Amino acid sequence: MESSKKVVSEIMEQVIKRNPNEPEFHQAVLEVLESLEPAIEKHPEFVSAGILQRIVEPERQIIFRVPWVDDNGQMQVNRGFRVQFNSTVGPYKGGLRFHPSVNVGIIKFLGFEQIFKNSLTGLPIGGGKGGSDFDPKGKSDGEVMRFCQSFMTELYRYIGADVDVPAGDIGVGGREIGYLYGQYKRITGLYHGVLTGKGLAYGGSLARTEATGYGLVYFLEEMLKAKRQTLANQEVVISGSGNVAIYAAEKVSQLGARVVAMSDSNGYIYDSEGIKLDTVRQLKEVERKRIKSYVKIHPSAQYHEGSNGIWSVKCNIALPCATQNEIDGEAASLLVSNGVMAVAEGANMPSTPEAVKVFQENNVLFGPAKASNAGGVATSALEMSQNSMRCSWTFEEVDAKLKDIMINIYRQTTRVASEYGCEGNLVKGANIAGFLKVASAMMAQGAV
Ligand code: NDP
Repeated sequence: MESSKKVVSEIMEQVIKRNPNEPEFHQAVLEVLESLEPAIEKHPEFVSAGILQRIVEPERQIIFRVPWVDDNGQMQVNRGFRVQFNSTVGPYKGGLRFHPSVNVGIIKFLGFEQIFKNSLTGLPIGGGKGGSDFDPKGKSDGEVMRFCQSFMTELYRYIGADVDVPAGDIGVGGREIGYLYGQYKRITGLYHGVLTGKGLAYGGSLARTEATGYGLVYFLEEMLKAKRQTLANQEVVISGSGNVAIYAAEKVSQLGARVVAMSDSNGYIYDSEGIKLDTVRQLKEVERKRIKSYVKIHPSAQYHEGSNGIWSVKCNIALPCATQNEIDGEAASLLVSNGVMAVAEGANMPSTPEAVKVFQENNVLFGPAKASNAGGVATSALEMSQNSMRCSWTFEEVDAKLKDIMINIYRQTTRVASEYGCEGNLVKGANIAGFLKVASAMMAQGAV
């Protein structure tokens, strides 16, 4: 039996060779494979069955043209993606991201991570991700609608309630999901749960909007409990001011913490008295303005240009909820020197490998995205269940299920970390736990 290190390095070499110019995908695969070494040693049968070679190769990648006409009558062309990564444990499930930085490597990194995250939820959902390099920022509602309709005119061929069920992600919120759903229904004539994050009036689930942020905080509470800590009176810094950030801020505030800084892609605000979340919601969700406008309404707060500066703000808890690689080694060291006690990831892969190392070496409690932000997709799966059953659960019912799921993910992650000789390492625990379920299901299903 080859050593697990050799197996990992051979697979990595192939991944880099076959997927050139996709650094985010390489980073995500390396992070998972390295942490799987104890599992590879314990289960040589997975290596012999080629599970690792198969799991890093998407089942299908779809890239398509999205033509649309802007408000000036000009033709615009964007590129659409859907990567159907792994359907071993259920229909492909994962969000759509609309952001100018989107390319196939970013969608593949997100789709790959989604396999393990979805497995960790314990619900029957496979891994996928999609999106476009379209930038909704600064576009009129009409432009966004025409883009979404064109995007769905191609995507509808590849998705379905039992096939692939996309959701939102960066740049795709309730407005976009509504336009996408309307077009899907118009083309296919089907009224079924093909997208999640839908509006409440047409099949959405209560608590789905809040789920990723709330779930993150439920997970964080478990991390803190293990150290006999609570959220009461903690100072929290949250990057981003989108869906995940806003509801993480709402939940930590409900639990007695104070959010002192938030950001968008231009800069960050600092409010020593605690950020007024109603203002952030009004600015970002309703008026679609920059976070800078916050200081016009609350002049005692400060605005600083440059979103990365947020990591220089002193806090006990940091919740990165904006985007990938937003905390590098330097930012992590700054957080540590300012006394951070816990970091839980709301965004996907927001900490670079160097940052994770800094946190772990300094005994900072660290909740990795695959575990800590799984509440969004878990609640999407609950939305799918409600759609199939033609019923809707109350907010309290969904929220209680979400909380149970997050507690289970925490327990599963810590238990597996101990079983595989890496006590307290939630990164390894999450990756190994997510992997084991998918790998054994792949074994059972043969050469697929
Ligand atoms: P939104 O589009 O609602 O919000 C994204 C926020 O992050 C905005 O404040 C945005 O600022 C900021 N941001 C985006 N890109 C950058 C950047 N390059 N630098 C600094 N700030 C940036 O997205 P979500 O809240 O839905 O998603 C945030 C993260 O959470 C992503 O990593 C996503 O993959 C992850 N996630 C989301 C889930 C969900 O249910 N929505 C589920 C699990 C993970 P601006 O307004 O200036 O663009």
